Amino acid sequence: MTEAVFTKPFTQQEAIPDAGIDRAVKIMKSGRLHRYNLADDEDSEASCLEMEYAKWQGADYCLACTSGGYAIQLALRVCGVKPGDRILANAYTLAPVPGAIHNVGAHPILVDIDENYHIDLQDLDAKAAESDAKFLLLSHMRGHIADMDRVVEICAAHGICLIEDCAHTMGAKWRGIRSGNFGKAAAFSTQTYKHMNSGEGGLLTTNDAEIAARAVISSGSYMLYGRHGAIPAEEIFQKVRLHSPNYSGRMDQMRAAMLRAQLPILEENLDRWNSRYDRLHTRLSAMDGVIIPKRKQDEFYVGSSIQFRADTLPKDQIPSFVDACGARGVELKWFGDDQPKAFTSRYDSWQFIDNLPVLPTTLRILEKTVDMRVPLTFTIKDCDLIADIIEDELARFTAA
Ligand SMILES: *Cc1c(COP(=O)(O)O)cnc(C)c1O
Repeated sequence: MTEAVFTKPFTQQEAIPDAGIDRAVKIMKSGRLHRYNLADDEDSEASCLEMEYAKWQGADYCLACTSGGYAIQLALRVCGVKPGDRILANAYTLAPVPGAIHNVGAHPILVDIDENYHIDLQDLDAKAAESDAKFLLLSHMRGHIADMDRVVEICAAHGICLIEDCAHTMGAKWRGIRSGNFGKAAAFSTQTYKHMNSGEGGLLTTNDAEIAARAVISSGSYMLYGRHGAIPAEEIFQKVRLHSPNYSGRMDQMRAAMLRAQLPILEENLDRWNSRYDRLHTRLSAMDGVIIPKRKQDEFYVGSSIQFRADTLPKDQIPSFVDACGARGVELKWFGDDQPKAFTSRYDSWQFIDNLPVLPTTLRILEKTVDMRVPLTFTIKDCDLIADIIEDELARFTAA
């Protein structure tokens, strides 16, 4: 046993690359921060970001907007969700997901999860069959990607439109295809704790020309949509431009500049996340009383956070275990808490949802689930010390 304490903050991200800082300062000095406020022959940072991200993601169209939650909400609208519609959604997710569904006046039908934090495919199939839901908002929660071949099959069989929430899977893949390329539209977040950091921000991608045109206009482009980067042909806009309300939610030039500087190093950062994740995964899986999902071979994940179950501890000891780790500088979050805390909540705390279901597997799995951020400011040695502390505290609690 060690009494070592870990001292680095779990919320510290890396600096914005110098190129992004320099560009952002130039934009501030120019006073032209709005994406459509351009000098003659000046390119819009936001439009360039849209082109570059579309290319990286392998999508035809891309829209930069104010947040990931906004991108989800807009994706639902432009895919045709109407007030009163029902939307299938996995129950293990974060609050902006049911929030986006509520925002468009729709009602979530929550689907159970399986032992490995994926949407339960049997429950999905059953709920798709018994409900009139025509949409699935699939959150690749904490980067765990379900069998996307089966998800796509189930959606096709029931005539369901799939929308992907890729807030935790920017850069992740299923059978070599990037997450976000399986449904009608996908939403990404560039909020500080995701894979690119502009403080707040979101990206919406799609291969559907009409959905793209609606999204661009509804994001608040007025009739300046022609200045966007990755957009369909003018004739598509002619069809939809007078029928698309303006739900103001544009991205500004500063944030776009910060993101453009991060995109070229994203691939390298994904590897850096995974080397930290893999070390933690190896260490944690070797511990008694720890259950940690095995990743599927078809999945290329991005390990920007890690989840495990402290299975031998009774539920009422988990808060003390989390506190004991916290006292030694290791910040864990408990997804089983009856009360929502900070960023974390269990689905049954979203009481604005009508007829909240009882989802036995989700409740059982989350009861013992703790979650930890893995920022890139940690080294592999840091990961070892974190693992030592967790192992130590777990042994103490198991012995007690
Ligand atoms: C962060 C997050 C969102 C929302 O992104 P914001 O940019 O913070 O609005 C949506 N879904 C999940 C799973 C998230 O983690």
